[in-house]
Amino acid sequence: MSEPNRHYEVVSELVEKAATRMQLNPQVKELLREPIRTLTVSVPVKMDDGRVRVFQGFRCQHNDVLGPFKGGIRFHPEADEDEVKALAALMTYKCSVVGLPFGGAKGGVLCDPSELSQGELERLSRGFIKAIANIIGPDKDIPAPDVNTNALVMGWFVDEFSSIKGSYQPGVVTGKPLILGGSKGRTEATGRGVMLVIREAAKAFGFPLDGATVAIQGFGNVGNYAAKYLHDLGCKIIAVADIFGGAYNPEGIDPYALKEYELANRTVKGFSDTRPISNEELLALECDILIPAALGNQITKANAANVKSKWIVEAANGPTTPEADKILQDKGILVIPDILANAGGVTVSYFEWVQNNYNYYWAEDEVGERLEQVMVDAFQAVYGAYQGQEGTSLRVAAYMVALERLARAMEARGWVMA
Ligand code: GLU
Repeated sequence: MSEPNRHYEVVSELVEKAATRMQLNPQVKELLREPIRTLTVSVPVKMDDGRVRVFQGFRCQHNDVLGPFKGGIRFHPEADEDEVKALAALMTYKCSVVGLPFGGAKGGVLCDPSELSQGELERLSRGFIKAIANIIGPDKDIPAPDVNTNALVMGWFVDEFSSIKGSYQPGVVTGKPLILGGSKGRTEATGRGVMLVIREAAKAFGFPLDGATVAIQGFGNVGNYAAKYLHDLGCKIIAVADIFGGAYNPEGIDPYALKEYELANRTVKGFSDTRPISNEELLALECDILIPAALGNQITKANAANVKSKWIVEAANGPTTPEADKILQDKGILVIPDILANAGGVTVSYFEWVQNNYNYYWAEDEVGERLEQVMVDAFQAVYGAYQGQEGTSLRVAAYMVALERLARAMEARGWVMA
């Protein structure tokens, strides 16, 4: 929105804050200061009209002390190197906070997928994987879906990478179609993780969830499943918005029926028994839980003062700017940070990669139970750090937990002196 792009700086400032509180070994901070590498590529794509267009793309690998790099690839007209770097760093901290044996990475391709035909999208996807093939692989760096990418795109990625390597390599990406070694429960995982963290936080803070009102910005893979799981838990979804507009009903919206409507109409706007609502209005709604589940930088210093929810749960990556964060904290609004709230996705990505590695596949219940355990443990770790520190936020507490694990790994590998 109106604040300048300084995504990476924002993450670095958070690390600094947490590091100071926990007296982190300064060498650890030094090693995390910049990503290990960022590859910038130009991807030529033969368009349907026969002309060639060149798309710019990035893969940033932030840190891999805990294991191979991991993180999604987004297709977006505003993807830029600074944002990809920041998102890669978020993945380092996200994987660490939930205890996964992965480092952090992110990819981005500057394009507007809504303007591309299916064939163009496929050629772009294959071209991008070819361009970054040397630095990815099942034990090096494992991409996954992110904004505007999905299982279909992951299928092309696997196919292209496998033909480059000359052997089938399903473990090179996660979030694949089931038939190609995807995991049961991966599509729903981020939304399910959001619900699990809310459930645990509600227990810890004594926050009643039965009938709690919820507003959700974004009805993509994350917002849609978060809405369904929270509805099943007894919460009342009162508003949902997507890029075309929103739907509001203070009596509650059935997210299952809303999804059917959205599939047919490509927007939630106009759903029966709702009145239209803008994204800005949704962010300012009186409700118990506000869930930004779309893009970054949505709650800024320009609109944070208008937020009237009791909690904000960051299902998107980086939806709250630091200036907004401060305003929200002063207002007494509890923010459950992205690196914890949306970690369910990468957690089931990890399970998918494990299943690919031993080529044996789990039942849906098994995936669900394991995800629950990881999210509950991660919440407890963050909540423990939060309680131990006067005047901190769950965000800083989450970074403290993440940094502590990274520091231990760096010491154990001899990267830094203890
Ligand atoms: N793109 C998702 C995220 O930001 C998932 C990453 C993954 O599964 O590797 O967490």
